[in-house]
Formats: sequence, structure tokens, C-alpha cells
Amino acid sequence: MATGRRDGGLYVLERGNSAFISVLKNKSLHASYDLWHARLGHVNHSILALLNKKGQLHLTSLLPSPKLCDTCQLAKNHRLPYTRNEHKSSNVLDLIHCDIWGPSPVKSNLGHNYYVLFIDDYSRFTWLYPLKLKSDFYDTFIQFQKFVENQYSSRIKNFQSDGGAEFTSNCFKTHLRTSGIHHQLSCPYTPAQNGRAERKHRHVTETGLALLFHSHTSPRFWVDGFSIAAYIINRLPAPLLKGKSPFELLYGSPPNYENFHPFGCRVYPCLRDYMPNKFSPQSIPCIFIGYSTSYKGFRCLDPSTSKIYITRHAQFDENYFPSLDTSQAQSMSSLQFSNFLEPTPPYPNMPASSPTPHSPHITQSGSNSCILYTDPVNEPMQMDNSITGSSLQHSDPSSTSLAPTEPTPPLPVAISQMSSHPMLTRAKAGIFKTRHPTNLAFLGSSSLLSTLLASVEPKGFKSAAKNPSWLAAMDEEVRALQNNHTWNLVPRPADTNIVGSKWVFRTKYLLDGSIDRLKAHLVVKGYTQIPGLDYTDTFSPCRTSENPRGVGWRFFSLCFA
Ligand SMILES: [Zn+2]
Repeated sequence: MATGRRDGGLYVLERGNSAFISVLKNKSLHASYDLWHARLGHVNHSILALLNKKGQLHLTSLLPSPKLCDTCQLAKNHRLPYTRNEHKSSNVLDLIHCDIWGPSPVKSNLGHNYYVLFIDDYSRFTWLYPLKLKSDFYDTFIQFQKFVENQYSSRIKNFQSDGGAEFTSNCFKTHLRTSGIHHQLSCPYTPAQNGRAERKHRHVTETGLALLFHSHTSPRFWVDGFSIAAYIINRLPAPLLKGKSPFELLYGSPPNYENFHPFGCRVYPCLRDYMPNKFSPQSIPCIFIGYSTSYKGFRCLDPSTSKIYITRHAQFDENYFPSLDTSQAQSMSSLQFSNFLEPTPPYPNMPASSPTPHSPHITQSGSNSCILYTDPVNEPMQMDNSITGSSLQHSDPSSTSLAPTEPTPPLPVAISQMSSHPMLTRAKAGIFKTRHPTNLAFLGSSSLLSTLLASVEPKGFKSAAKNPSWLAAMDEEVRALQNNHTWNLVPRPADTNIVGSKWVFRTKYLLDGSIDRLKAHLVVKGYTQIPGLDYTDTFSPCRTSENPRGVGWRFFSLCFA
């Protein structure tokens, strides 16, 4: 296995000994199926099996535990369809796909409401930048462009986006023109043309939510969850890339999986140099929230002070998620998407380290160096797609920090007006033209968005009327009622209790969980009937296919507004 100098009764392995190094390396690569599943963002079975087969990691158990993974069921209860779109570009930066996600229903801990994805068509490598405002996109693109063109000694040649306002502004168009970049816009009503970015959004958000759910981390940390999701996805082999990862296509060698740890687990950063004296504790219990690009280390959140420590040297308890062990702990079943959706500020701080005893399963990780960086929580935490962990043969791109955003303009009117519902629509961001209603087909393939949609079925006419898709559904219902001659218009009888009606909105799903269609039902407000007067009368305006005309109702007043 290894050779070493004999010293007395001991065989001494030198630090530089390659066998010694490989033994150490392999140690952190050996872990159970379930632990690797968690470390790699709840990746599916075939990818883990592939990585194991290639020897890039070592599964100590080959099969997942027979129990379904709760987190996977919550966060991504469907299979991601693979695109039929062929892999066209032959070089890095030939084509960049781009799209903006948001507004997020929950503002991040650093005040971000959006993120933008840039995807290299050749490698599928993804860069994620959080944005406070959509108007920050322009500056972000300039930084991204400078960064990648410098790092990969190539120029962006084509830029693909939808027709969102931020992509069609004069200054952005002028910038693309003067940079010699061809702008490919997806045609209105055909979001599929921007499908690569849309699918990547889904993959990033689902993986990110899985990480948040699994660790019961506050949704305020969605930027960390999504950033680490992009980081993981860049390092996972993809069938479309013939089993290679985006990282491998970009850098020419496979990524190193040694320093992957489950998001949100307990971490003890080495704080030796930062403590006032030798009797001070050498570490404090923190929560692992990702990888730092700028400092090549682990980002460790101290929940009691909200400080983030960045260190290459840390001990991990990968089976302990501090957020679970608090009085605020929720069972998985109660942790639904609504936790992510309902911004009910102020959020409680991340729970402090719990006094509850637990048996630690500590693994040590990190290199010998102990480079520490302490910073307040407002360290710019954008894209974290890029470090390789502490072995770091590759200096992944690290993003340049986003400059502090300039004086913040007020939120676009559409957002502030419509923010009463948490639905994640472009309409909410004031974009009505290009997507509805055809984008429903696309939305349908996303379980995240399906869930978002389902959880925000409009409560009444007013909110539904703001969305062209629900308006269309109401149109359809009224047309069907009219076609069936469901009512006769009569003068309002004088001494009669008029039973009103209301709209009920439902999202209909296909078997695979995608959205079939949006359905609006006009129903009678039976609860307004008065005992002794009309309480026993039957009103059944609900049409069914077997009962197209409704049963036995005598009068019916329609109120549409
Ligand atoms: Zn899972």
C-alpha cells in the first residue's frame, strides 16, 4: 500500500509520499450512499452510480436506503426531462444563455430578490449572480463578461435571452453591439427557445430548495442554497455531456469531490488565530453554508452573531443539522414550499447552537493551512460556482464582487402592486406580453413552479383577473355555461334572498405532476342561503361532464366583479 522509512518500531510515512496522500484523500471520498446523496444536493441514483464507477468517489453502501428521501419528494417530485436540443457549440463562450429568476418570495439575508444565470452552451457551466434589483443586471453582465473573457481567453460571441426589458434596454443592446456579440432573442410566446436557461433555473431552484429543506435552513438563505446548488450541478456528470460534468468540459479534468459536505450541517471552523488568547476556544459551532470562491474555503455561519467565517480548515459533523434541533424545529411534513413562499418578516434568526446533546460524527476536512477570513454577514455572496475545495488544482473562476448597488430606485410598480400574492410570475414583474399563456406548458414541467402555482391559486376574482391565464380560464367557464344555457336572465325578484356566486380556481395536473390546465369554476355561495327561506333548495351550478347543465337550480345571479 505504501512504503516508509523504519524508525524504531514505527514506519514513518513522509508527508510528500504519494501513497500517504492518496490514503488521506480517499478517506474523505469514502462515505455512504445517503451521505453522498446529501453532499451532492440530493443527486439521483444514476449519477452517483456513475461517479462511483468512475472512481471519483467511493460509496460504502451501493444502494440508497429503501426509505424514500423526504427531501427529494418535497423539492423535486418528478424527473427532469432531458432536452432534445443538440449540443451545438464547439467552444467555450460561443454562446451564453441567460435568464433572470424572481422576484423571490423571500428576500435573502443580504437583500437579494433575483438571481441571474449565465450558462455556457458548450460546457453547460453555470454562473449564478444574485441581484437586488433587475436593473442591476447590466452591471452584472459587464462584470461577468470581463471575468469569463479574461479567464478563458475567448470572447462571448452569441447571447441568448428572452425579450425581458432588462435584455432589450438600449444601453444593453448598444453594449452587445459594440462588443460584437450577436443577440439571439427568443420569439414571443415561445419560451422553449430559451429552454436551456429555463431548465437550468429549475435544476438550480429544485436542488437549492432540497438543500434548504434537508437542513431546515431559513428560506432567507436561499442565495446560499441556490449558489451551492449551482456549484454542485457544475460538478455533476450529465448524460447530455456524455457523462462528463460542465466543470470537466471547461477545465479539462474532472472535479475533486473531497471537500463536499451537506449544506446546513454543523461545522467547527478553525478560529485559532482569531481568539484573544490561548485559553479561548479554538472554534465555535457554526453552520456550513457553502464554498467561498474568493478565499477558497468553507463558509461557516455563526448563528449567534450572524458572522460568516471562511476557512480552509474545519471539522464537519455531517449528520447533524443544527436548525433541526431547536424549539422551532418543524417536522418535514410541515415544512412545505409555503415556508419559502410566505415572506412573513421579520424572520427569526437562524437558531443558535442547540444545547441538545447529540452524538457527533465528525469528519475532518480541509488542507493543512488555516487561512481564515472573518467578515460581517454582508460579504458579497454571489456566485459560488467555482472553487474546487481545498485540493484546488484548478483555480476555478471566482466572481468578482458585485460593487455595492447604486442608489436603489423604487421597486417597479408592477411588483409593489402585485406583491400581495407570492406567485412567481413574470407578470408579477410587470412582463405580461411575451409569456402568457403559452408559458404554462413550460411551467407545467417544473414541479417547483407547479407547486408555486398550485399554492397560489387565486382566492377570488380580483387576484385572478390580474393573470391572463386565469382570465382565459374564466372566459372558458363562462362560455361553457352559456353554451349549456345554464341560466335565464330574469328581473330580480323583490322579496327573495339572492344567492351570490363566486369563483373557485384550481390547477389541474397530469399524472407526471406537470400542469394540465388552469380551471375556473363558478359556484354558488350556498352559505348565504337563509334557513326557513331557501335553505333546503339545491343549487348546483358545478358542471361536470356527466351533468353538463347543473341540477335543479332555479335562479342564479352572476357577479363578475
Ligand atoms: Zn434526497
